[in-house]
Amino acid sequence: MTQTRSTDHRGHSATENAPVFTRRTVPAANRIPAAQRSQRMRQPGFGRVLTEHMVTIRWSADLGWHDARLDPYQDLRLDPASVGLHHGQIVFEGLKAYSQPDGGVGVFRPDLASERLRRSARRLAMPELPESLFLAAITELVGADRDWVPATVGSSLYLRPVLLATESDLGLRPAREYLFLLIAFVTDNFFPGEVSPLTVWVSGDYVRAAPGGTGEAKTPGNYAGSLLPAQEAKARGCDQVVWLDAVERRWIEELGGMNLFFVYGPPDSPRLITPPLGGTILPGVTRDALITLARGSGYAVDEQPLSITEWRSAAEDGSMAETFACGTAAVVAPVGTVRSTEGEWQVGGGVSGPVTLGLRRALVDIQHGLSPDHHGWVFPVR
Ligand SMILES: *Cc1c(COP(=O)(O)O)cnc(C)c1O
Repeated sequence: MTQTRSTDHRGHSATENAPVFTRRTVPAANRIPAAQRSQRMRQPGFGRVLTEHMVTIRWSADLGWHDARLDPYQDLRLDPASVGLHHGQIVFEGLKAYSQPDGGVGVFRPDLASERLRRSARRLAMPELPESLFLAAITELVGADRDWVPATVGSSLYLRPVLLATESDLGLRPAREYLFLLIAFVTDNFFPGEVSPLTVWVSGDYVRAAPGGTGEAKTPGNYAGSLLPAQEAKARGCDQVVWLDAVERRWIEELGGMNLFFVYGPPDSPRLITPPLGGTILPGVTRDALITLARGSGYAVDEQPLSITEWRSAAEDGSMAETFACGTAAVVAPVGTVRSTEGEWQVGGGVSGPVTLGLRRALVDIQHGLSPDHHGWVFPVR
């Protein structure tokens, strides 16, 4: 990369030169042999089967974005006084690359992930990586680790971009040095039973996000804060935590790290409700895609608040037939049983419903190139 000095804090470059990556790949003789790779890819879990390369790009107040590199996957060297470690000035993303029928690889909506990373960064007073660099990083990594993109439908290569403050000066102000990282790992379906419905716990004691807080940003602190409530949900035999709003503790917001949809009416003309974005809900890329797909199928979709009591009564009187959660990792996951301190209820008899499964299939088919990509969501990596 040569033109860096003209890159401002927002990442807008005055001279739009194509980023130049320094490439150092694992020598062919040292690559993991095909048989061993397939063995590892068989039951990959989530975040355990990492690929053989990584991308790093640096930012400093003086140079802007610079030193873009593709390297063998390796440990980082970090100053123990790095701001990110102490003040949590870190944001990340999650998106997936899928094998396509033509032998290529398609990444699902990297433009939205890039935009959201910039928005998250802005909230934490961090520099914004330009979309051209974000896409180039993905092209570099997926190109080098093409062999790790699973061929099976339902499996994919999960891409994890991270932006981290690396300056070692712990005065309480935004850092002046950052490291962008891109790593990748193989994954299959997030929930082992795939489409077996989840049992969820309504958290009365904890909230995920408050108005004016960082709930809209993809920042690790939000996840750290969710681990104890998740542990309590587990202890009550539940898979995930339902988050209610911080102010009234009444409005349903999200499920763990996923967005929620509620399905009313008959399966042939359903009406979907999803909580509106408004600062405390993470604007999911999957949420956005499902709203578009549902409307394209002629379903009514309303972004409007739903209270926990409305959820219960509609599920119990049968007017609500289905509830599902969605996110990049799980794609679409049905919710079957809800538990709270007030008792327990089932949605749609506790089994996966047709609207949920239909939308899931429609989305998965587009991601894997099995049905036409009318919206231009799949970014081909050459
Ligand atoms: C990432 C995330 C989601 C889902 O977003 P996708 O872009 O669909 O993966 C939902 N809620 C929270 C809290 C998240 O961090």
